[in-house]
Amino acid sequence: MRLSLNTQILLGTLAGILLGLVFSKLGPDAVISRNGLYLSGLVGNIFIDLLKMILVPLVFTSIAVGVANLRVHQQMHRVWISTLAFFVFSMAIAILLGLSAANLFEPGKGLSLDLFHDAMQRFETRQMTPAEFTVKFFHGLFVNPFAALADGNVLAIVIFALFLGIALVIGGERYRNILVLLQETLELTLRIVGWIMRLAPAGIMALLAQLVATQNPALLSSLAKFVTVVLGTTLLHGFVVLPLILFIITGITPLHFLRNAREALLTAFATSSSSATLPVTLRCAEQHLHVKPDIAGFVIPLGATVNMDGTALYEAAAALFVANLMGVELNLAQQLIVSATAMLAAIGAPGIPSAGMVTMVMVLQSVGLPAEAIAILLPVDRLLDTVRTMVNVEGDMVGSLVVQKITRPNRPD
Ligand code: ASP
Repeated sequence: MRLSLNTQILLGTLAGILLGLVFSKLGPDAVISRNGLYLSGLVGNIFIDLLKMILVPLVFTSIAVGVANLRVHQQMHRVWISTLAFFVFSMAIAILLGLSAANLFEPGKGLSLDLFHDAMQRFETRQMTPAEFTVKFFHGLFVNPFAALADGNVLAIVIFALFLGIALVIGGERYRNILVLLQETLELTLRIVGWIMRLAPAGIMALLAQLVATQNPALLSSLAKFVTVVLGTTLLHGFVVLPLILFIITGITPLHFLRNAREALLTAFATSSSSATLPVTLRCAEQHLHVKPDIAGFVIPLGATVNMDGTALYEAAAALFVANLMGVELNLAQQLIVSATAMLAAIGAPGIPSAGMVTMVMVLQSVGLPAEAIAILLPVDRLLDTVRTMVNVEGDMVGSLVVQKITRPNRPD
């Protein structure tokens, strides 16, 4: 009997966590752990490298083809507007959840700051105000497409592919050959994604074994309450709020959705990168969840860098945590500022591991909290990144289904 890929990935996840626990129990110097971790590093890196290899051609062709095909339905602007509206709406809910949980449970209250004194002293941050951040963000949108493709700059690739897609729509029949070429390149890249996915169970196992084995339990326990509040709220958003929104708008049941989205969710969990997961996310949306390629090809790549519910929630909750540690009470106006900058920070964070940590600086500074405080959060960031990336990716898939429902109700084609 051959196990389905979905089941293999699930088994890989469990085996990875177990192996990681064994390695950390034996200690890093034991022969088994040393060789095991070496091998995990090798396999995990190859898996991520393969995903990154296919990422750029995939994003480029899927967006250009997605946008060019929207013409057929004359609904480009409806798709645009509903996509952006959904992204803002779902991130706003995530932020509200994060802030509510942090206000309710008050993580950080009563913790001694001395505990973190050293970490803060050793840490230097680059100061960046929200205004500077916004300028930098917009500056990074329009880049020489060849440089963007060579550097793997996903957001800039998305923007150029949008231009190309729109030009193809307006140019119409005259550029038919180029559209066909792009469509066929997209098909070919998806074929390669299928091959890469065969390595997913082993890749995910290796990445998780490494991650679990390198966690520091002592540091974790000092931040236990914060970690629990953030993980709990992120999971609530991912397993209750998003599926509920999906169910209300599209009628798709949570179980059906989660079962078909599982490949992408577990890959996001193991890689902590929405961008690296993107090939898998697209595959799940189109092949398992039956989102039409023109919608998925547009919503998912854009969402991978722009729509980050987990990151937005984390940034808002973490700002309150730091305020509590400092003994600062943030009033309603300040919490609103935190909400707005958390959304900006999540939109601006690229889909790579710990990116949210970097843009966190801006959120802290927006209400005058010391940027150095992110040193306190660093030790637990890789752990929290797993779950928030999973929810980031989930939001993109939910978004594509919602946008499909809103813009093309009852169209079977
Ligand atoms: N790792 C996250 C992602 O790729 C971004 C973050 O650090 O919050 O979606």
